[in-house]
Amino acid sequence: MNEVLRTDLLDHGMNAGKEQKVFDLLRAWRRCAALVGREQWRLFFEDGRIEKMHRSPAESDLAAVVGAANRLQMVRHQVVGILGSFLSNRQNEFSRIVECSSLPGETKHQLHFVNRWRAWFGREGLVMKDGAEIPGETRALARRIMRAVLSRHRKPDFSRINMVMDQRAASVREAEDTTTFDLWLRLSTMERGQRIEVPLRSHAYFSDRKGVCKKTVQVNEREGRLFFGIVTDIAGVCAEQKEAYQPRCEEIALDYGLRTLFATDQGDLLGQGFLRKLERFDQRISRLAAYRQKHDLRTRSPRYDREIRRLRGFLGTEIGRVLNRLARVQRPGRIVVERLWFQSPRLSRRMNRLVTNAGRRVVEHKLADLTERFGIEIEYINPAYSSQECSACGYVDRKNRAGERFECRWCGKKVHADVNAPRNLRSRRSRPAVGSVKQAKAAVLRALVLEFQR
Ligand SMILES: [Zn+2]
Repeated sequence: MNEVLRTDLLDHGMNAGKEQKVFDLLRAWRRCAALVGREQWRLFFEDGRIEKMHRSPAESDLAAVVGAANRLQMVRHQVVGILGSFLSNRQNEFSRIVECSSLPGETKHQLHFVNRWRAWFGREGLVMKDGAEIPGETRALARRIMRAVLSRHRKPDFSRINMVMDQRAASVREAEDTTTFDLWLRLSTMERGQRIEVPLRSHAYFSDRKGVCKKTVQVNEREGRLFFGIVTDIAGVCAEQKEAYQPRCEEIALDYGLRTLFATDQGDLLGQGFLRKLERFDQRISRLAAYRQKHDLRTRSPRYDREIRRLRGFLGTEIGRVLNRLARVQRPGRIVVERLWFQSPRLSRRMNRLVTNAGRRVVEHKLADLTERFGIEIEYINPAYSSQECSACGYVDRKNRAGERFECRWCGKKVHADVNAPRNLRSRRSRPAVGSVKQAKAAVLRALVLEFQR
């Protein structure tokens, strides 16, 4: 059975002296991670790979930074994990660029092969199924595309990561006498052979969490305070929940609404007042940014960061709440959803950007959670022109929609704009020429026009 991991953050009750020792270790951990990050990028550009099991010529120097050889292994494991998921996002972008390009089919096929094996920067020859080696110019093209993709993103920053430790450096046990603390964590420090005992305070969420406690502990820092994350494998619980989950309908299409967080093809508007709350965040954040700009200060400040964190917290809670409710009440077997986050003309550019980035991550995370817990299937559909397409006759026209009203210029169908779009998403499942997320926007429009003429 695959692991399904959840982390609960617990508060500690250490004195200042112990706390300082944990901060020392955390600082050393981050320094080491930055060095290992550099090492892995060098490997990546020279040999085309990142490597968990790598042994650096300066292995003992690196180990000295974090105080022990096994901790260096943990740091490397963590760094490679972060780089791996960063690269997998870049891999998807690479694939989209190639798909939407006007390159000949043969070249596209080869580029996809290079991308599939992450061999953008590899030096060894690559032979395809038919025995043909991928020509040098295609490899060079792959490198150029990947460089362009990479240059669009900031590389992962390791100077602020958490510590993810296994039982070699951190182990948890239940407190034997029930005083104030429920758990004790035994933790290595930077002082050779010295370990400290960290008392941890449990909370209702954690003590009700069913599953198998993993031998991994995370140490997080937030606003100068330390938190300890205990990882639980809930795969067994998920299997039971999945067993018990009885879908009530085959599928539901979800779209990002205008006023509400989500709209479904059944006409439900979920998360009422969402946009209004975002507008309030927007006002506060914009005012703060404007104020700082007026006084020639850079936008970021502790207060600004706090507002952004509150916004992210709001998005997480709100999206989680609404989607949990959807799973509980409507109980769909499958959820069909578009990949893009909505942009609202009522929000500032800054806010649209913040919500697009943070919101999309939260939604994807939450949907993956529904799959893990209930077995709900998730399908992503291309959303291009879905707000202009008439869900009754297929006629596409920008003028079909005016704000929340949708009125088809061809067949006269009148429907709420928030209901029209998810209906289109749902029907696009069986129309790959329109619905595939691999289609470029222009190709979707062509396919829609063709379909309408038939
Ligand atoms: Zn129509």
